[in-house]
Amino acid sequence: MQTDRSQQLFERARQRMPGGVNSPVRAFKSVGGEPFFVQRAEGACLFDVDGNRYIDYVGSWGPMIAGHNHPAVLEAVVRTARDGLSFGAPNALEVDMAETIARLVPSCQMVRMVNSGTEATLSAVRLARGATGRARIVKFEGCYHGHGDSFLVKAGSGALTFGEPDSPGVPKALADLTLTLPYNDFDAATALFDTAGDDIAGLIIEPVVGNANCLPPREGFLQHLRELCTRHGALLIFDEVMTGFRVALGGAQARYGVAPDLTTFGKIIGGGMPVGAYGGSRALMERVSPAGPVYQAGTLSGNPVAMAAGLAMLELVQAPGFHAALEAKVHALCDGLEAAAGAAGVPFSTQRVGGMFGLFFAPGPVDTHAGAVACDTAAFRRFFHAMLRQGIYLAPSAFEAGFMSSAHGEAEIDATIAAAETAFFAIRD
Ligand code: PMP
Repeated sequence: MQTDRSQQLFERARQRMPGGVNSPVRAFKSVGGEPFFVQRAEGACLFDVDGNRYIDYVGSWGPMIAGHNHPAVLEAVVRTARDGLSFGAPNALEVDMAETIARLVPSCQMVRMVNSGTEATLSAVRLARGATGRARIVKFEGCYHGHGDSFLVKAGSGALTFGEPDSPGVPKALADLTLTLPYNDFDAATALFDTAGDDIAGLIIEPVVGNANCLPPREGFLQHLRELCTRHGALLIFDEVMTGFRVALGGAQARYGVAPDLTTFGKIIGGGMPVGAYGGSRALMERVSPAGPVYQAGTLSGNPVAMAAGLAMLELVQAPGFHAALEAKVHALCDGLEAAAGAAGVPFSTQRVGGMFGLFFAPGPVDTHAGAVACDTAAFRRFFHAMLRQGIYLAPSAFEAGFMSSAHGEAEIDATIAAAETAFFAIRD
């Protein structure tokens, strides 16, 4: 595989950009080697600057659920851009977007648009603190909620102790306010709320974890968190930046039948443009400025071109049978990968939730962060590169979920499984 142009670009990039990238996981640090630079994307595929084609299971980390460069999304962007790129004043597409989200996700009676998932989560936490008058928040090991200070915190020596900064630059005083729990552990959550429940403003969770490989919630776990939050007057925040409109049309809250107080969105609602949002009941959202006192703002929020892209994408996911078809493809792929691993005698398992999936180099099922961490990451690294050499692009980390799109057809899935049959044998040596 020729990669000269990507190598030259990475060399230049490293001179002027930290690590040569604008977001860390792109640098291939956890799998080793160097990233390829993308020239263009179409349907299920990426094409790099050296002319190589890759079947893509990253999908820009989630937004490209209808495939890359979908003609309907492209057309909406081009049509809207002709009228101007940004107004800094209200436009009709923002109203259409808020109405569409409220219709598809009924717990969101009102919505505020922002520009990224990070902005959505940090704004939701501010609202939870503003609405409850409490300071502490709870998150889960392995969940990622963007790079806001309150989230870059790891557990202290126990869930009940103060959090520790997970990055230089995060003040200890702020980290103290973030408590961390193990995902899918009912008793740890109960114990934490028994002790600190009345100080907790909100609990934030990825209802299906997509940032520690892919971990589905155990039966009743989300309901348990709902009950704990209600009993203690804390707000339940579902971070549906990944799961929204993907694991079901109405997101994880529809799939598992649990309504959170606040929901954060990103990725799909922007159709590939920089967009995030948070929403909840009218009573809560009317506390946000200028309706209420909790301040939050954005020069580019509700940008017309971004709204047009997101609305076009949301139109596509509403096609009858869209999510069932996506899920069937995830099953076909994961069944094929498990069979290929079995034939090669490689310990391997998968998790599947709607249009997202996880690949684990361990016998399954894995549904805890500790289980994901215990997987054979060296085997994953070898597998990742063995697949990449055959033109299959998996997430360049053992701790990221995979994403299916409606543009992946039988041909792409069969080609992926065929490549895996070779790769699983190759990585044993
Ligand atoms: N929440 C979740 C669940 C995410 O997966 C991500 C990003 N992958 C974020 C928040 C942050 O979103 P962004 O990168 O758009 O800031």
